[in-house]
Amino acid sequence: MKLYTNNDRFMVWQVKQLLDEHNIPCFIKNEFASGAMGELSPLDCQPEVWLNDGSWQQRAELLIDQMETQTSVEWECSACGETNGGNFEVCWQCGQETHIDQ
Ligand SMILES: [Zn+2]
Repeated sequence: MKLYTNNDRFMVWQVKQLLDEHNIPCFIKNEFASGAMGELSPLDCQPEVWLNDGSWQQRAELLIDQMETQTSVEWECSACGETNGGNFEVCWQCGQETHIDQ
């Protein structure tokens, strides 16, 4: 069954990795689709995380919830001290990529 999908392949891989760490059997579909768009609509090209077994769904969704909460934690720019939302990869104030090289 399909568990998770996102335009951002990085996020899909994070979910896959998260489930692997918790020994939840899963696999990725459409992994390479966005490299070969062709005549497919963008929606068809989204990579997806699928569970081998639907009985893991509740546990898997809980883990994804936790992960998304963690990634939305605010961070403080070490260059200018500005507080940024966790969904920003660079400081919106000065452009410094501060929290990536942790
Ligand atoms: Zn900054």
